[in-house]
Amino acid sequence: YKRITINKKSSDELNKMARTFNHMMDLLENNYKKQEQFVSDASHELRTPLTVIESYAKMLKRWGSSRPEILEEAVEAIHSESIRMKELTQQMLILARDESQVDLQLEQSDLVEMAKNAAKNMNKAYDRDIQVHSNLVEIHVECDSLKIKQVLIILLDNAIKYSSAAINVELTKQGNSVRFSVTDYGIGITKENLDKVYDRFFRVDQARSRDTGGAGLGLSIAKQIVSAHQGKLYLESEEGKGTTVTLEIPVKQS
Ligand code: ADP
Repeated sequence: YKRITINKKSSDELNKMARTFNHMMDLLENNYKKQEQFVSDASHELRTPLTVIESYAKMLKRWGSSRPEILEEAVEAIHSESIRMKELTQQMLILARDESQVDLQLEQSDLVEMAKNAAKNMNKAYDRDIQVHSNLVEIHVECDSLKIKQVLIILLDNAIKYSSAAINVELTKQGNSVRFSVTDYGIGITKENLDKVYDRFFRVDQARSRDTGGAGLGLSIAKQIVSAHQGKLYLESEEGKGTTVTLEIPVKQS
């Protein structure tokens, strides 16, 4: 689009209008570019499992009835890739909504209990040592417990994926807000990547993350949910030392 250039002699009013117009067009263009990038990244991400499914289906067509070992391998691969595609599309649907459109089912929930449950489940599933510490026995917060649980799982899941030692979870209530932080002692994130990890589909290491199964959407979803609760999500990290991700939400929604 063409920006409006302002003639110095124009009136203040006209100058103001032109600036507003240019600003609006910049915002629109920016939004459009973001959408375009999202669609292109999403298609790229969905193509990988689809290609695997397609090639196994081809194998099944040719040899499925005569070679049982191929049948088993193909069905297994098609099944797991379909699950991956389903998860991906679910994540994309969440992100297709603006944070202001996130529908929150608010209820009083005890964050300490939620954190302990999430840690227990993850400990069991991944055989890892996740410790939960809190300065209070209970911390009640008005929140959408399912969505906050999803955030806790995203943060714990990342700590598990990118570290191998114990993981510490700390909960503190200070004034009108509650802080929940997950600390791992793993690979960490460089300074230059620290701001990018919230970007949709961003992965520090494309190849490695593909093995661990992440599409780079976890932290974008976490940030969206936390913002919908009028909270904040921030990361501190040192390469080779580890990472602390903290979520802070107000005790009462306004
Ligand atoms: P993914 O599903 O790939 O983990 P996320 O949005 O949750 O997607 O994270 C984006 C990227 O940020 C990851 O691919 C990883 O490179 C980096 N990252 C996130 N959490 C951590 C962590 N605790 N330690 C090191 N790197 C991390």
